[in-house]
Amino acid sequence: MKKDDCIFCRIANGEIGSNTVYEDEDFRVILDLNPGSKGHMLILPKEHFDDLFELSDEYAQKLMLVAKKVGLAARKALCADGINLVQNNGEAAGQTVKHFHMHVIPRYEGDDKGMVNWTPHDSDPEEQKRIEEAIRKQL
Ligand code: AMP
Ligand code: ZN
Repeated sequence: MKKDDCIFCRIANGEIGSNTVYEDEDFRVILDLNPGSKGHMLILPKEHFDDLFELSDEYAQKLMLVAKKVGLAARKALCADGINLVQNNGEAAGQTVKHFHMHVIPRYEGDDKGMVNWTPHDSDPEEQKRIEEAIRKQL
């Protein structure tokens, strides 16, 4: 279902204009209004899902094919050296728009490595084991 008060629903369904690079029955892929790099795209499902945990299995299955298609096209069109796929869920993870979206971010040699990065920490084998078991139990 689409939500009238959701900006990405309105963009995905063509009620608000966007730089659309690809569209099919289920998705619209647009250029991010405030790109992190040249060609930064967002894959938007036309149905409303708040985040990954709400995304239907059918959409989830089709999503990666769209990511691959537009990622390859951007790599060719813009001579990108790499592509990051980024997908934020929840405020703590940096999600600012509560309509599922996947970022497809072309990367170029020498660009800002901090854009998609984290600080690696040392890990404790015992704690890692506890974490492994805790996650396994929920599956
Ligand atoms: P996130 O932080 O993962 O929720 O990403 C939201 C993204 O949506 C940001 O990169 C914004 O620049 C982008 N954005 C917000 N509003 C618009 C809009 N109207 N058109 C295109 N991109 C947008
Ligand atoms: Zn929406």
